[in-house]
Amino acid sequence: MSALLILGGTAEARELAGVLHSRGVPVVSSLAGRVAAPRLPPGEVRIGGFGGPEGLSRWLAEHDVFAVVDATHPFAARMSASAFEACASAGVPLLRLERPGWRERPGDRWHWVDDVEAAADAVGGLGPRALLALGRQQVAAFAGVDSTWFLIRSVGPPDPPLPPRHELLLDRGPFTVSGELGVLDEHRIDVVITRDSGGDQTVAKLDAARVRGLPVVVVRRPPSPGTTAVTTVAEAAAWASARAEGAAASEESSPDGSRDLDSPSG
Ligand code: NAP
Repeated sequence: MSALLILGGTAEARELAGVLHSRGVPVVSSLAGRVAAPRLPPGEVRIGGFGGPEGLSRWLAEHDVFAVVDATHPFAARMSASAFEACASAGVPLLRLERPGWRERPGDRWHWVDDVEAAADAVGGLGPRALLALGRQQVAAFAGVDSTWFLIRSVGPPDPPLPPRHELLLDRGPFTVSGELGVLDEHRIDVVITRDSGGDQTVAKLDAARVRGLPVVVVRRPPSPGTTAVTTVAEAAAWASARAEGAAASEESSPDGSRDLDSPSG
């Protein structure tokens, strides 16, 4: 039977899988396999890369996928580009589910930069003690910064090399404002570094920085490949349900798997 593929690794992807599963839509969720004990979504799960756009395109055909929702993290740019290319070449409908970015509010002192390398260049001028709250794969960009002490917070151990002066804090959201104020105060943090991940799970550090009047270096999201996008799980679920109904109707009209083109035209 054909299925919908969710490219996951986010809370929204898990939620979408749950909604579709409860509606009886056949779903396969795909995870990259970076986290040792990931929170698994309901329904079928596969783990590991596909082997670039060509591998994904083959996988879509082999598993009779009728539609794909790319619900990966806003900074998972390679996976999103690969999905765009593979779905276009396989003729499979694709939707991007991406939470909105964070918005600056009165009292914020944000410094926008284009990438983590620019964040590493900026931090030295903003304060001697930084909270580095990025993905663990991004920390190496700060390895050459010796003017700043870093509190590196990530879900798993960060990939080396690491900056010479640092402490590790392995933790995963959701975080609270009071908890984040405690972290800022305990470690005498004077600048926060983050990516524009959006969502409410990790936004508390920005609220805490505003309360303490601290500057924040915010890394902009990478450019999108141009996939049609929605921002809520409800919108993605409606789109996916409509695709599932279309797929079921076409399976009914050709139960042996043959396409209309092969049917007698009357
Ligand atoms: P990436 O740089 O865009 O992806 C690198 C490669 O990992 C992709 O080309 C693909 O390999 C594989 N991959 C990524 N997501 C996959 C998925 N859902 N299913 C199967 N293969 C996947 O992405 P990343 O930054 O490494 O992130 C990996 C995963 O972690 C994503 O699913 C993302 O949603 C989640 N995540 C990322 C962040 C972040 O900060 N980037 C934060 C939270 C969660 P092939 O080319 O071999 O197919």
